[in-house]
Amino acid sequence: MRAHLNPTRMGAVAEASADLTRRVQARCPTCTFPSWTPRLLAGRPCAWCNGPTVEAWIEEYVCEACGNRAEHRIEPGRKGDPGHCDYCNP
Ligand SMILES: [Zn+2]
Ligand SMILES: [Zn+2]
Repeated sequence: MRAHLNPTRMGAVAEASADLTRRVQARCPTCTFPSWTPRLLAGRPCAWCNGPTVEAWIEEYVCEACGNRAEHRIEPGRKGDPGHCDYCNP
């Protein structure tokens, strides 16, 4: 009877649970293509001079599939910090 070494190799089970922790991916409202994720555009109006600051101002959504485009202003009632303004705080 031969000694048959058969080490049990527990392969790492790759679970898809990581997907559960990610936020639900939005879909294009026109064609439902799942790439409807925003990118941030800077330019929040400065509280002092109303010029564009480097603070995030608009979320821009662009669908890669159909070209549908939408903008969403982030906190439109809030002005930008003059410390982030090139004019007021060079
Ligand atoms: Zn300013
Ligand atoms: Zn689309």
